[in-house]
Amino acid sequence: MERLLIDNVRPFDSRRGRVGPVSRLVIEDGRIAEVTAEPRQVDAARRIDGGGRVALPGLIDAHVHVTAYMHDLTGQALKPPSLIVAESSRILRNMLLRGFTTVRDAAGADFGLQEAVARGLFEGPRLFIAGFPISQTGGHADMRPKGARLREMFCTCAGLGLIGAIADGVGEVRRAVREQVRNGANQIKIMAGGGIASPSDPLEGTQFSLEELKAVCEEADAANLYAMAHAYSPRAVTRAVRSGVRSIEHGNLIDEPTARVMKAEGAFLVPTLSTYVALADEGERLGWSAEMLGKLARVRERGIEAVQIAVAAGVPVAFGTDLLGHMHDRQSGEFGLRLPAMSPVQVLQSATFTAAQLLREEDRLGELIPGAWADVLLVDGDPTRELSMLTRPEEGVRLIVQAGRVVKNALA
Ligand SMILES: [Zn+2]
Repeated sequence: MERLLIDNVRPFDSRRGRVGPVSRLVIEDGRIAEVTAEPRQVDAARRIDGGGRVALPGLIDAHVHVTAYMHDLTGQALKPPSLIVAESSRILRNMLLRGFTTVRDAAGADFGLQEAVARGLFEGPRLFIAGFPISQTGGHADMRPKGARLREMFCTCAGLGLIGAIADGVGEVRRAVREQVRNGANQIKIMAGGGIASPSDPLEGTQFSLEELKAVCEEADAANLYAMAHAYSPRAVTRAVRSGVRSIEHGNLIDEPTARVMKAEGAFLVPTLSTYVALADEGERLGWSAEMLGKLARVRERGIEAVQIAVAAGVPVAFGTDLLGHMHDRQSGEFGLRLPAMSPVQVLQSATFTAAQLLREEDRLGELIPGAWADVLLVDGDPTRELSMLTRPEEGVRLIVQAGRVVKNALA
């Protein structure tokens, strides 16, 4: 049994939202064995002095696309899978070095990539995968250019799964969900409303019939999984959560009545503010049309207001980013973007305790408690007051431990 001792740290209690007294973390076989403030002798193969720093649970980003190395997903569908995987390995490694020890992939990553990380072939966050996003014909993940008449325009390896599985009707959506389940999905991703990057679906539009939405959730539930839905408008969000969807992705246009429905149904909101800021900065240069930039401006303006509305209604809010291509390097910026609507403690909880609840991994992730994976960060300063150590993790995050393995040690 390999034992690691991280001494002289103040652990952040992500459940209660406060920093505890100076303690030591005893780690055995990749898990936290003990968190104790008692100064007694512990034998350990390795001992790290935390210098009184705050210890955080490893961060969780609940909306990423680790295979999206290009911002142009249709263009990426023409790239060889070997290249996509090689590029993904770099995206994964950089996420881990920002302190994200777990991520939920919101479509794209498959069981091969998940296993590559689990076996240590690639350094990266623990992956929860969705497989292909499920979309209706003409929905947000139907990437076929207008005029294309072939239904299966892309092979199943296209874009490494970022191209949607197109399904229409209850029978087809059931089969599409079952295919993701068969391929090891941890959650099911559906497109329940219009999007920005897709040219032919209005933002306010809804996607899938109620019968189809219910069938998706029923099939996910049958496999002990849940559905996460891309949706912006009150109408799309309400239909999705009433049909059993557990997590609303983006949700920028929600109003108070919608937030109350989400609360009543036990749904989570996963805002992804950083991707709108990134695209507002870069969309024009990337060749986005005036129509797409117009949609973008609308959701961007409303993004922070949606977070405020959700927090006020008591909807659990988890951390997400949804970045594509070279914009992945803005991932840590999300911590700062949320501060107009959430306290630093609430932002920390969104990336730890609340995200773990969303993943149904409470007791294993997001909390520094015995039995949980030993995913631990040591940071400079007091993250319950301000979050600059997380927005600039190269300097501010001094130690990163994932499942008991030291990934980064810059303790001076
Ligand atoms: Zn996304």
